[in-house]
Amino acid sequence: MDKEKIFLSLPHFFKNIAVSLLGNKNKRQRKKGNYNSYLNLFKDSASWPKNKLENYQKEELAKLLLEVFEFSQYYQKILINLKVSKEDIINAPFKVLNKMPFLEKETLKNDLELLVNTIPNRAKDLVNFTSGTTGTPTITYYDNDSIQKSFALLNRYYNLSGLKEGFKGLRLSGRIIVKPNKVKPPFWVFNSSENQLFVSTYHLNEINLKPIVEKINKFKPELIEGYPSAIYIISKYINANNIKLSFIPKCISTTAETLYDYQKEEIFRAFKTTALNQYSSSEGGVFITECKNGKLHLNLESGIFEFYNLKGENAKPGEMAELVSTSFRNSKTPLVRYKTGDWVKLPENLSEVCSCGMNSSFVEKIIGREDDILFTEEKGYVGRMDTAYKGLVGISKSQIIQESPNLIIVNQVIDEDYTKEMDVKFIKNLRDRLGTTVNIKINNVENIPLGANGKFNAVIRKFELPIE
Ligand SMILES: [Zn+2]
Repeated sequence: MDKEKIFLSLPHFFKNIAVSLLGNKNKRQRKKGNYNSYLNLFKDSASWPKNKLENYQKEELAKLLLEVFEFSQYYQKILINLKVSKEDIINAPFKVLNKMPFLEKETLKNDLELLVNTIPNRAKDLVNFTSGTTGTPTITYYDNDSIQKSFALLNRYYNLSGLKEGFKGLRLSGRIIVKPNKVKPPFWVFNSSENQLFVSTYHLNEINLKPIVEKINKFKPELIEGYPSAIYIISKYINANNIKLSFIPKCISTTAETLYDYQKEEIFRAFKTTALNQYSSSEGGVFITECKNGKLHLNLESGIFEFYNLKGENAKPGEMAELVSTSFRNSKTPLVRYKTGDWVKLPENLSEVCSCGMNSSFVEKIIGREDDILFTEEKGYVGRMDTAYKGLVGISKSQIIQESPNLIIVNQVIDEDYTKEMDVKFIKNLRDRLGTTVNIKINNVENIPLGANGKFNAVIRKFELPIE
């Protein structure tokens, strides 16, 4: 039996112990070593002027490139072929970076052992599995120093969101913590080492939500984090049943899926706290975090951000762009010019400064994976369909599938507030965005299955995007 099966078959009490032991091990790994000095640095750098941050980036980039030049076979070969010297790296690291090729996901998967940084003081302290949408996992290694740096950066964000060390957290992610066919509570486990309650996102149905919400209300988390789809389902239940909560969380932070505006509204109604979006790829790429003004700040301390449009050119203000990241937070598996496959929308005005105190630039929206971008002949590329749900009621779950440039299928799970009128409204909203000629079909279904890793895919496109 594998570890997961053993864990799932444990009685609840022993599950709590197992999770707490693991939590204790994680805590020691994450918060020892350089954690505190990184945290202090990042708390300070949060308000640095942009040029100081850019100088920091220049130094970090030079350090990274020098390390991979010497200790990663994969990058060594590239840099030698480019006839780059150590002096070039020290004097003009950005110039060297611009000459280097992009790192594709396939290469990370296939050439991992060549890519890995073999410098003696960085051990393979953690093996991280990312289950991609295709189902084949990508492996990355982390050394302890990189783990501590990553957690310091994450905790800087929590800190800016009003949380203090040791806060109570509720986590709703795709982890399987109770047997999928379990019908009686508890649908959660508690990690006492880190004061963290994990609630299963695979059990959020009408019947189970009652005990789950009661448990949350008793636990009174200061942080609620996880998949927006899961937090949204809980919020909808709270609002529909007029449940008055006995706490207000200091921070709600969503990851892994796109956070839509209609979800934000529902979540705010339930918890009286605005959900913030946090982006980072689990391979160890760069960080984007939302501030209280709703701006999605690039965390320049996490690495170098590059943005390319669908034609592969440097993206212009207002365009949709793929994020290419050079990461400072995973030195064991160095990601230099890594094509994340994640898309954002750049703001119209790139030089706008936010009043929250962070001076870094921001993106306007995180679109998600490239699959989340739709295409019709009439309108071209269309990102983020969440605005099409404005004014609709009676839909508890919905998935937009674009089968071809000419055919959109919407699968939706409806509730008692639904009327046929909603379909008419919805189709109009979709037409406003996708054009008048595309065929749109709406199906009412019993349920919409979750995708890889328990994530909910709100949008799926089933054909390659044509490049105009
Ligand atoms: Zn801000």
